[in-house]
Amino acid sequence: MQHKLNRLHFANHFVQELPGDTDTSPYPRQVKGACYSFAAPTPVRAPRLVACASEVAALFDLSDADCHTDFFTQVFAGNQLATGMQAYAMCYGGHQFGHWAGQLGDGRAINLGEVVNAKGECWALQLKGAGLTPYSRGADGLAVLRSSVREFLCSEAMYHLGVPTTRALSLVTTGEQVVRDMFYDGNPQAELGAVVCRVAPSFIRFGSFEIHAARQDVALLRQLLDYTIRHDFKHLGEPNTEVYLAWFNEVCEKTAELIVHWQRVGFVHGVMNTDNMSILGLTIDYGPYGWLDNYDPDWTPNTTDRAERRYRYGNQAQIAGWNLNQLANAIYPLIEQVEPLQAALRHYSTCFINGYHDMMAEKLGLQVFEPETDKVLIEDLLKLLSLAETDMSIFYRRLADISTESEPSDQQLLAVLNEAYYQPAQLTDAVIAQTLTWLRRYIARVQQDKTTDLDRKQRMDAVNPKYVLRNYLAQLAIDKAEQGDNSMVNELLEVLRHPYDEQAQYQQWAQKRPDWARTKAGCSMLSCSS
Ligand code: AMP
Ligand code: MG
Repeated sequence: MQHKLNRLHFANHFVQELPGDTDTSPYPRQVKGACYSFAAPTPVRAPRLVACASEVAALFDLSDADCHTDFFTQVFAGNQLATGMQAYAMCYGGHQFGHWAGQLGDGRAINLGEVVNAKGECWALQLKGAGLTPYSRGADGLAVLRSSVREFLCSEAMYHLGVPTTRALSLVTTGEQVVRDMFYDGNPQAELGAVVCRVAPSFIRFGSFEIHAARQDVALLRQLLDYTIRHDFKHLGEPNTEVYLAWFNEVCEKTAELIVHWQRVGFVHGVMNTDNMSILGLTIDYGPYGWLDNYDPDWTPNTTDRAERRYRYGNQAQIAGWNLNQLANAIYPLIEQVEPLQAALRHYSTCFINGYHDMMAEKLGLQVFEPETDKVLIEDLLKLLSLAETDMSIFYRRLADISTESEPSDQQLLAVLNEAYYQPAQLTDAVIAQTLTWLRRYIARVQQDKTTDLDRKQRMDAVNPKYVLRNYLAQLAIDKAEQGDNSMVNELLEVLRHPYDEQAQYQQWAQKRPDWARTKAGCSMLSCSS
């Protein structure tokens, strides 16, 4: 019988409805007057499936059995197109590290088309690392196993944490060697090639609009925005100036929600360039991202950004606002009014601040955020978390175990939190005194709510994950996969499916960063090389 992949319905709206590049060669070039170029994946020698996410396959009606077939591996390595697929690379631009970078585009991403599932939902499929496109700009269009494991696992980890994200269907190794100079320090090495298939309702980015605005191609800018509204923002109605504004307002809201989630779980994207900002408010482009182990708002995993720390954890809300500003500039020619765009940007700030306060109140198990008391309670907590190196995830899980009903002693309170500290020597008398003062205030505040400890713990554990893809965990899985052992990739995928559950059998993957990982490449430092 025909493989299920060949019986799916590919609608391919993007290439059907938007103008494409008339040149079909893969050579690097400026692509004008078009939203995409047709680009075939480069065949690979020996593809092997490392892992696949069955929940993602189910989004478009594939079973687990459908995924464990040779044809599936061939298609998602880029060796074959299933019936109805049309392979293309998208044209977009972007501001990188605060500067306009001109045309970027899918340099190593190749879309396979948009599949419509039995429920009528549309999902775009995209291979990352499948070879050259006109947007490859002198690079090779490929990806290595290490970065592909990171993208695959983190996409799914984020989804299960409840953070908006692109999904990952599959991870295959290609059997090809790819040369990378991981730290751009003159040490190129051959690494294993790999391809991830990502899935999202749309891969359109802020930079997708910026490129047409920069080229003053207002007609194409309008066409792309109309397309976006008709496909991904249908509820806004037929496009017109008012709808454009409503659309921008919604992008502002979705972006604010996204950043609140990142703050909640301790995620640092690492490269928040405007080409890496989804118009759906999804986390997109998993490169040198990282997770806070010890709480440090100044931390960034990206060595390329080490000097400026533009994309550090504590700066992400501000940067998202800056990026929205660029998007506002890009769509201005369709609106030609400054004030409503500025109002939407102010709305972004309000949404973020309100969302952030509500989220922090939830992390602390409070019923609602009470501005009068809780603003300083939160500010003081964040100061406290920086005094001694404190593991963010463990701290909030342990805080849920603090009793507010049984009048605990100072010793009892400190014992509950003990596991969260990296360096006991940092717990000086002064730090201990501040910690206890804060905990007593916290207990008093919780008591005002008149909730039981059990109820509070349940609510806290539902928003404070026990399992996140700590940088050292991803690196351990990568080290094994590079030796041909995919077991840890698959085990982490399984653990991260239930990040809020205790999962006692996986306790070791909830432990704080071991000392060996403090300064190890891949664990605390990553570059854009992938
Ligand atoms: P990123 O920083 O990963 O978002 O990438 C920025 C731009 O560089 C995008 O246009 C990517 O498609 C492109 N790019 C990154 N890595 C490669 C690669 N290995 N080959 C071709 N293009 C790449
Ligand atoms: Mg990118």
